[in-house]
Amino acid sequence: MDLDRYDVVIVGGGPIGCITGESIKHHKVLIVEEHSAVGVPLQCGGLVSKKGVKELGYPKGVVNKVKGAYIFSKNRSIKIEDRDIRAYVFERKIMDKDIAKRVSKKVDFLLKAYGRLVKTPYHQKENRSENILNFKNQIKKKGYTLSVSFMGDNYRLNPKVIVGADGVRSSIGRSAGIPMIREVLSGAQLEMVNVNVDSDFVYIFLDKSYSKDFFAWIIPMGEDRVRVGLCDTSDGYNKLINLIENHPVVSQMLKGGIPVEFSVGALPIGYAKETVKNNLLLVGDAAGHVKPLSGGGLYYGAKCAKICGNVIEEYLREEHDIGYLKKYHKLWKREIWREIDFGLKFRRILKKMDNNKIDKLLEFIEKNELIDYIVEKGDMDNPSKVLEGIFKKFLGNCIKSLLN
Ligand SMILES: Cc1cc2nc3c(=O)[nH]c(=O)nc-3n(C[C@H](O)[C@H](O)[C@H](O)COP(=O)(O)OP(=O)(O)OC[C@H]3O[C@@H](n4cnc5c(N)ncnc54)[C@H](O)[C@@H]3O)c2cc1C
Repeated sequence: MDLDRYDVVIVGGGPIGCITGESIKHHKVLIVEEHSAVGVPLQCGGLVSKKGVKELGYPKGVVNKVKGAYIFSKNRSIKIEDRDIRAYVFERKIMDKDIAKRVSKKVDFLLKAYGRLVKTPYHQKENRSENILNFKNQIKKKGYTLSVSFMGDNYRLNPKVIVGADGVRSSIGRSAGIPMIREVLSGAQLEMVNVNVDSDFVYIFLDKSYSKDFFAWIIPMGEDRVRVGLCDTSDGYNKLINLIENHPVVSQMLKGGIPVEFSVGALPIGYAKETVKNNLLLVGDAAGHVKPLSGGGLYYGAKCAKICGNVIEEYLREEHDIGYLKKYHKLWKREIWREIDFGLKFRRILKKMDNNKIDKLLEFIEKNELIDYIVEKGDMDNPSKVLEGIFKKFLGNCIKSLLN
């Protein structure tokens, strides 16, 4: 098997690795995926905005469309409803396969193959100290190399560019010593059937007694099928079970429901300090391309994947100096950094709010007729403007009531 003929090797066959590969138009690309199929195991609520669906290339797998959300705090709730569809609910296994199928027309896949960054260049065998020296020179001159384990054999690959699209744990990023400034949240999710929900809305539960530092959700997949999930700093699974059994609204909504699929996963909230190191680039969850307030990673990831692929294409086509790849870091930051930065700051405020304050915030939104403002201006991919506006008004109101 001649695996050393690829210009680019992407480690990770998730949607973001695939879209990166698809964007490298005129060079040989290999995607290395550790699982025997793409899209498994499921680790996603599958909720994607209209813009996100476009960015992902309109993949198959839509199972529901939603027009808004019910947001519950401990003692209050608001309903945000648009006339139009605001987001789509996907069956991720179908979406991921469809994206991979589309991409496979020009990109090769190696499934059940595990990629590692190599510390020693494969053509250096003899003297260890000489090896290390040579590797350093090679990194300076050419960059990292890869080792791929496949069917019991190890293959050494020496592509011009390596992409780490290997998800939240990114062993590729860690091997390169790329510093991550982030939290990793623990998530758990159950698909349940035989439930009865208003399938036009998602349900968000902001209640610190169930999830102290994030939130819980119910995403309808149709009239009698939902995904119920929760993320928090730790112990997502037990907290989810507690939510389903004891939350006054959730337990009623899901009464009689039968679980048919269980999944756990991790959410990276933060970012990689550098996403380009020599000939290595990180993208998607591996780079922290995730919305800090919702955990959604498909829209930002797909956007950055295209930037990543385009920069690699230009680098190879025009035979630029290796430093050219740094352009990717600048370009993706230009696109989504403001939102990530705002999201991280806003998250710090939310973490400090207790249930009483969250109740007050929802009450304030309802009493001040801000729901129409949210419907009109709200954007689930770029929430900073609307949230900033609401929060300034809310804080102004808190200060006023303190002064009176
Ligand atoms: C509970 C939960 C709910 C979520 N809900 C939503 C949602 O509703 N909407 C949304 O937009 N986002 C959601 N997300 C986030 C979303 O799932 C991710 O942002 C998205 O999957 C990131 O795609 P990716 O391709 O970067 O990484 P992944 O989908 O994680 O793909 C990485 C791939 O790399 C492979 N891999 C890893 N290491 C190696 C290796 N060394 N060699 C070979 N292969 C390797 C893995 O097997 C995997 O297939 C959710 C996440 C969680 C945990």
